[in-house]
Parts: sequence; structure tokens; C-alpha cells
Amino acid sequence: MKILIAEDETISRMILIRTLENRGYEVLSARDGQEGWEIFQKEKEDISIAILDWMMPGMNGLELCKRIKEAVTSHYVYVIFLTGKKDIENIVEGLEAGADDYLTKPFDRRELFSRIEVGQRIVDLERALNESNRKLHQMAVTDSLTGIFNRRAILERLGDELSRAGREKIPLCLIMLDIDHFKRVNDEYGHIVGDNVLVEVVNRVKSQLRSYDIMGRYGGEEFLLGVPGANPEAGRKIAEKLRTCICERPFEIDDKRLNVSISLGVTSIVPSRDGNTNDFIEVMIKTADDALYKAKETGRNRVVYG
Ligand code: GH3
Ligand code: MG
Ligand code: MG
Ligand code: MG
Repeated sequence: MKILIAEDETISRMILIRTLENRGYEVLSARDGQEGWEIFQKEKEDISIAILDWMMPGMNGLELCKRIKEAVTSHYVYVIFLTGKKDIENIVEGLEAGADDYLTKPFDRRELFSRIEVGQRIVDLERALNESNRKLHQMAVTDSLTGIFNRRAILERLGDELSRAGREKIPLCLIMLDIDHFKRVNDEYGHIVGDNVLVEVVNRVKSQLRSYDIMGRYGGEEFLLGVPGANPEAGRKIAEKLRTCICERPFEIDDKRLNVSISLGVTSIVPSRDGNTNDFIEVMIKTADDALYKAKETGRNRVVYG
């Protein structure tokens, strides 16, 4: 990670650059606030700490500090003022502008280093926190067995897709699919094989989808798919393709060969812009569920449009 410095006075800037570089830091230096801002915009993903002089021609350090703090970055940028302004009022104003620390010139190198290290600790902590939040979010939306969206997440994503379809006046197709006689798989081969069948069903279905189609596990062996842009005819074709990709060749799990099939209920609507998304989702799921029920009733391994 790099340190950005902004300092208009040549000698001070040279001393600061040398001091930091000798310590092993990579330094980006600017001669005034404007240049500092330009460098920051280009390199912000690599800058973790900024050391700013206050009084500089054009854009001063206070303004640069505010801009850095308002900028959108994937990580925290720790800002230290290094300035001749020593008054309590200045210190307060600098910190209120968003700076994290405040040092006055002339600086003591040991103090500067240890304050940079404090900054680095904060930056590292924030990174670790972001990463763990990312993992938690991933876990919160994922079905752990199959890796696709869980029930809550697929319903939420379907809501988003429905709103988008309403705005763009395109259809959204909903497919509900359920493994046929899955209980028999468990009863005959055990739960572990049953789990493997679930994973294989998901993998086969996913291999037929486009990147913007969405899939989630709605219940035990029941899945929901959202296919943006698919009208009834296209939806029926896609569902038929999914049905075929499951039953066309047996599942090979451990040393067993299993014949698996799925039943599918399909529906597609162009949502009106002003309708309530949750109502639409509820109606679509009910329609797809009824169609799925008919597919089961009329012999399984089939697609019914509702
Ligand atoms: P149908 O063709 O009517 O859908 O019959 P089915 O046997 O598939 O349906 P039913 O609802 O009677 O049984 C579903 C079974 O799915 C019962 C349950 O034990 C099993 N199941 C649900 N979740 C899991 C899971 O995560 N792993 C395994 N191995 N089995 C599961
Ligand atoms: Mg200055
Ligand atoms: Mg079933
Ligand atoms: Mg079921």
C-alpha cells in the first residue's frame, strides 16, 4: 500500500519523501492540493494513508482531506495532517474535516512512523472487517449444500427482477421445479446420495442457464428460477430443456446409476409498472406451484404452463 503526501514546500516535501522511502514505504507525492487530488483519483485503490500539509496554493489540505473522505473507495483511507498550524482551533477544524490524526511541523521521525503504523492498523482492521462482512453476506444468501441462492435470497432477487421487468416492459418467467419421487432416493440409497443428487440437479440446470438467469433453493428438493425476458413460449422451451437435461442420462453417484427426473411449473408475465412487487411474486409463485402440481398429477417428468 502506498502513502500519498501533499506538500507545497520543496525542501519539506523532499525530506518527507526520503524519510518515508528509507523506511520502506512507497510514496506518491504532490506539490499542491489539486495535484494531490488528481493523484488520489488515479491511485485511490492503492493508497491507504495520506499525509497532508494544510496551507498550499489553490486547493488547500483541508479541502483535499474533505474530498478524500467523501470519495468512494473500497477501503478506508487514513488521513494525517502534517502542518505548521498549531492552534487548538486548527487541530479541531482539521479533525472535524475528517482527518484521523494531526501532527505539527517540524516532525519527529519516530513519532511520524508510529502514527503511520497506527493508521496502518486501522486500515488493516477495516479491511479484515470488510472481508468478514463479505463472507457473512455470502453465507446469508447462499444455500450451503448447492451453492445457489437460499429461499430468502431468491425471493428477494426475484423481486428485483420483477421491478426491472416492469420498468423495461419485458416479461419475467418463473419456473418452479421439483425432483420426482425424491423420497425414494433417500429411502433406497440414503441421505448422502440424496444430497449428491440435489447437487447434480443444480449443476445440470445451471449449465443450461444464461448468466443473468437466477436460481435458488425454495425448499428441500424444490427450486425456483427467474428467467428475465422469456415470454410464455420461450419459458416453456427453457423448462423443457431443463427437464431433458435431467432425465436424458442417469446420474452416476459413487458406483450407482440413478434415473432422476423433475417436474416443472412455468409462468411468465410482463409486470405493470405500478403494481406491488410482492403481490406479483406471490401470484407468480402460486401459479407456478399449481402448474407444478398438475405436472405431478398427470404423471411427473413433465412441464406444465400455468
Ligand atoms: P414428488 O414426486 O411428489 O415430489 O415426491 P417426492 O418424494 O419428491 O416428494 P416429497 O415431498 O414426498 O419428499 C421430498 C423429500 O425430500 C423428503 C425429504 O426427506 C427430502 N429432502 C428434503 N431436503 C433434503 C436434503 O437436503 N437432502 C436430502 N437428502 N433429502 C432431502
Ligand atoms: Mg504549505
Ligand atoms: Mg419431489
Ligand atoms: Mg417437493
